[in-house]
Amino acid sequence: MHLPTYDDVAEAAHRLKGMAHRTPVLRSSTADALLGAKLFFKCENLQRMGAFKFRGAFNALAQFTEAQRQRGVLAFSSGNHAQAIALSARLLEMPAVIVMPQDAPAAKIAATRGYGAEVVTYDRFTEDREAISRRLAHERGMTLIPPFDHPHVIAGQGTVALELIEDVPHLDYLFTPLGGGGLLSGCVLAARQHAPQCRVVGVEPAAGNDGQQSLRAGRIVRIDTPRTIADGAQTQALGEITFPIIQAGVADIATATDAQLAEALRFFAERMKIVVEPTGALAFAGARHGGIDLAGKRVGIVLSGGNVDLARYAEILAG
Ligand SMILES: *Cc1c(COP(=O)(O)O)cnc(C)c1O
Repeated sequence: MHLPTYDDVAEAAHRLKGMAHRTPVLRSSTADALLGAKLFFKCENLQRMGAFKFRGAFNALAQFTEAQRQRGVLAFSSGNHAQAIALSARLLEMPAVIVMPQDAPAAKIAATRGYGAEVVTYDRFTEDREAISRRLAHERGMTLIPPFDHPHVIAGQGTVALELIEDVPHLDYLFTPLGGGGLLSGCVLAARQHAPQCRVVGVEPAAGNDGQQSLRAGRIVRIDTPRTIADGAQTQALGEITFPIIQAGVADIATATDAQLAEALRFFAERMKIVVEPTGALAFAGARHGGIDLAGKRVGIVLSGGNVDLARYAEILAG
C-alpha cells in the first residue's frame, strides 16, 4: 500500500494553484477571549463548492491517465465529496457518475446534477451502495474515487494545513474535524514537515468517537453509524491509509456533542458573520470544550465546510 508523504501534499498544492481558492484566515477577538488563546480560523466554508473536499477530489482527478479521463470517475456519497467530484470532473472535462441514496435531500441531488454529473440513485434500505458502485465502475470502466482513504485525496486535503501554516507562523495547535480522516491525515503530513512543534488534534462527534477508540486501542475500531448533526463525520471507521498516518502524527483526538456544535454555529453566525455546517464546527467546539488547556496558545482551527440545508440550519440557530 502506498502511504502518501509530505511531497505528495506539496505536489497537490501545485496542481491546485489557480483551481482551488486560497481561503482566508479569519480572527475573532470574541473567540480569543472565550478560549483565552489566539485563534486562526481557516475558512474552507468559503472554498469552491463550499468545503475542503474540492482539494482532494481535484488532486485525484487531475492525475488520471488519458484512458481513465475518457471513461470518467465514479463516487458514492450524499455529501460534499459528491459535489467535489462532480465539479472537478466538469473542470477537467470528464464524465462523472455519483451514486446517491434515493432519499438524499433534493437540493443535494440537484446541486450534483447542476455540476454536470449523472446521478444514479439506490434504495439505502435494500441495496448496498458499494456493490452498486463497484458494478457500475466495472461495467462502464470508470475509476472509483473514495471520499477519504486514497493517497491523492489525502494529499489534496493536506493543502489546507499547508496554506494555514504558511500564513500563520508558530502555531502551537491545529484542530481539524475528523470523519474518515482524509483531512486530518493530510494536515498531519503538512504540519510534521513545516511546523513540527505544532500539536495536531482531530475532533469527532461525541456520538461517534471511533477515531478516539482506535487511537487508544492501537487498531481501527468500527462502530455503528452514529446519530449526530455532524453529517459529514458519520463515518463508521478510519481508513487503512488514514489510520497509520493519524496514529503516528496526532497529539490527540477530542470530541464535541451536538449541543456544542449548535452553540458553535450560533457563534459563527452571530459574531463572525459566517455560515458553517455542523461538521465544519467540530474543530472549534473541540478546542473550546475538549479539555485541552490552550491558555495563551496560538491555535489553528479548520472550518471545513459551509453547506447547510437552510431550513435545518434555521432550526439549529433557533435552538
Ligand atoms: C468530509 C467532511 C469532513 C470529514 O473529513 P474526513 O476526511 O472524512 O475526515 C469534515 N467536514 C466537512 C465539511 C466534510 O465535508
